[in-house]
Amino acid sequence: MNYPVGGLPSPFYRVAMKKKKLALHWQIIIGLVAGVLFGLLSSSLGWNSWVVDWVKPIGTIFVNLLKLIAMPLVLASLVVGIASLKDVSKLSRLGTKTISLYLATTVIAITIGLVTVNLLQPGSYLSAQKRDELKARYATEAASKSEKAELVTQTGPLQPLVDVVPDNLFKAMGDNINMLQVVFFAVFFGIALILIPDEQTAGVRSFFEGANHIILKMVDLIMIGAPYGVFALLAALIAEFAGSNPADALELLKALSVYSLTVIIGLATMIFIIYPLLFRIFTKFNYARFFKGIGPAQLLAFSTSSSSATLPVTMERVEDHLGVSEEVSSFVLPLGATVNMDGTSLYQAVATVFIAQAFGTDLSLAQQLTIVLTATLASIGSAGVPGAGMVMLVIVLESVGLDTAGIALIVAVDRILDMARTVVNVTGDAAVAVIVASSEGQLHEPKTEE
Ligand code: ASP
Repeated sequence: MNYPVGGLPSPFYRVAMKKKKLALHWQIIIGLVAGVLFGLLSSSLGWNSWVVDWVKPIGTIFVNLLKLIAMPLVLASLVVGIASLKDVSKLSRLGTKTISLYLATTVIAITIGLVTVNLLQPGSYLSAQKRDELKARYATEAASKSEKAELVTQTGPLQPLVDVVPDNLFKAMGDNINMLQVVFFAVFFGIALILIPDEQTAGVRSFFEGANHIILKMVDLIMIGAPYGVFALLAALIAEFAGSNPADALELLKALSVYSLTVIIGLATMIFIIYPLLFRIFTKFNYARFFKGIGPAQLLAFSTSSSSATLPVTMERVEDHLGVSEEVSSFVLPLGATVNMDGTSLYQAVATVFIAQAFGTDLSLAQQLTIVLTATLASIGSAGVPGAGMVMLVIVLESVGLDTAGIALIVAVDRILDMARTVVNVTGDAAVAVIVASSEGQLHEPKTEE
């Protein structure tokens, strides 16, 4: 965080400067661990409803602040980014590279998921009795997910394309779920801007540049509250999960531990093997440095389970701490937050095969290849919000003829796995941003190393 001298009035400035002593990711980790401990303590003392009433709102306010600036940030930074590209052919090259890398990493993620789940066979560890118990207990939740997914599948084949083009900008900006529509508008606006002589658009350019700087400063200010926000989110999550019967919650975790572990091993493979490998092949960028730079965004992804809410921080980290140019990051990251979900697609592959194993259904090679295709589409269609990946899982299950009621088997641990897969979703987007920037000669010295 670099605070310009005289740029901010005293109280905030002083708080920010004091915080500078400890790196931001450490502050967030402390908030996270303290939140978990506090959540465990309060559920053992029966304070859960107090935590939900008095602590959870702090987390909600923090996430709302992040969501609040996501849309304006996407609009302002994308217009500025595209305007600085100078010519449209550069944009189409950037687009082709980005989309190809997004598709490639998603297919790799699904393949890793399939290999892990076939090797570890987590479904065989779930007893028939436990399976029926879970099925009965979460039947209503599974049915509601199927209903939601039904709405998606009832539309025509070109509907996703139609959905990208908004009929009203303000309506599009009114809901974060429409991020792609705002990306579309900003790209369109930016292209038109490039096509007009500079002197006619100077005012508009400097307006968006100014707005962009202000919004990035707002991200800095919101991040001062990150340790407290993360504390509140984690404490509330644990209190709600444990509910009035912590022993029961633990029992559920145990029954699904091998499945959860399979998902986590797959996700870890992406972060610790695949992305470093891609860095080696395509860039000279040091992966450890990347990991350190993106750390706060990963921690937020973990705490909020939402790539969209994390987007402002991902953009700030990638630009200021990794040195990716705004031209690249403003295009690659908002697109990635909505369409590139390596963690989600991997999880969907593991969950589908796990459900098949638990029901004693053998999936043929052709069916597993179908999973590669449908999980790619389903992860593209998943929104960057908590739980979205599980709704779209219905489509993957249906594509291989599995009963969608099988979702009931995995609902209990989904929130926890959602946190982990969102970390991979955000890391994957940031990794592609660095790779694209490096290939375009758009990696510069970062503004700050912290
Ligand atoms: N929560 C994930 C994200 O925001 C999506 C999902 O897998 O549910 O990236």
